Amino acid sequence: MNQRDKKHRLEAMEALGRRLRPDQVVHHWYGEEPTLVICPSQAYHMLLHARQRALEECGNPDLRQCINCREWDFIGNVNVPRQGGGSRHSGCKSPNQRVAHHLRSPK
Ligand SMILES: [Zn+2]
Repeated sequence: MNQRDKKHRLEAMEALGRRLRPDQVVHHWYGEEPTLVICPSQAYHMLLHARQRALEECGNPDLRQCINCREWDFIGNVNVPRQGGGSRHSGCKSPNQRVAHHLRSPK
């Protein structure tokens, strides 16, 4: 945990008036107003980051970027690993195969 994370944890504990459990993670973002979010787990924290990045890069927080073809698509069309790591289309195994899933366009 770096100094900034420790500071955010302290701020969150102050706002809550109690200590955080070790598995709780504090997410901080600098939007129009600096905001702290107390996440129940690191997985939830990663979800917030993924949604935030999607919103910033493609305008829709529900989309995920395929690490192979770099396209943004709905969860379900891209497989999102639970343990983190890159999302990808199931038919999109390497950048060389990036054309494959575009041929199966939805009806
Ligand atoms: Zn893809």
